[in-house]
Amino acid sequence: MNGQGGTGTRAAPARKRPGRGARFRGRTLEELEAIHAALARAFGESPAPVMDLMAAQERDPYKILVGTILSARTKDATTAAAIGRLFPEAPTLEALGRLPEARIAELVFPVGFYRAKAHHLAQLPGAVAERFGGAIPKTVEELATLPGVGRKTANLVSALAFGLPAICVDTHVHRINNRLGIVRTATPLETEMALRRCLPERLWIPWNSIFVSFGQTRCKPVGPRCEGCPVRAFCLEPGGKQKGTAK
Ligand code: SF4
Repeated sequence: MNGQGGTGTRAAPARKRPGRGARFRGRTLEELEAIHAALARAFGESPAPVMDLMAAQERDPYKILVGTILSARTKDATTAAAIGRLFPEAPTLEALGRLPEARIAELVFPVGFYRAKAHHLAQLPGAVAERFGGAIPKTVEELATLPGVGRKTANLVSALAFGLPAICVDTHVHRINNRLGIVRTATPLETEMALRRCLPERLWIPWNSIFVSFGQTRCKPVGPRCEGCPVRAFCLEPGGKQKGTAK
């Protein structure tokens, strides 16, 4: 096997592909710190994801929640434009509740799944009033009960709007943390749970921003730009050949 087996009495054990097959050992705290430091330096050269920019400008939980819902499966520029049209007409949760669903859809078009998102946004004020007395809830578990809010969105809102320790795992975070041997998981939820166990809490919030920027600009699902990659020394799959994890 692997051109080394020959005709000896016992074949050498097949050499497993690094990362997926090799014994997984995770990363030490020092390695995690080094990865964070290297990407944080590079992150400064990349545009921040739109929700980070928005959170930096204003910590309005309503706007961060709505913006995060709109940003799913949508390019940052498209999200930013949709927010720019929606918030003048719906600057508060109460104002959003007065907008007809069709008008919300017009304003947020062409974000991905704009009809479904408009439907969820139209239901949002009633759900928040009924379950949380009109105040946007803070915890991931509470947020995840709202229409159109999955665990990824809930984590992002909890972190950006309320500064609570939360790890938002999207496809970028999931893919790259597997490539770097930090976790070995099959789904974003598994990655979130594994990161909660291995990462110091102070790194939870920045982890998302850094990896999203990195994933959007360099470590893409297909054809990552590995030359000059700041964390290449840690990478188990240069070239992005790993197929066992989700994108
Ligand atoms: Fe991603 Fe390539 Fe860097 Fe590995 S070496 S982390 S695949 S950009």
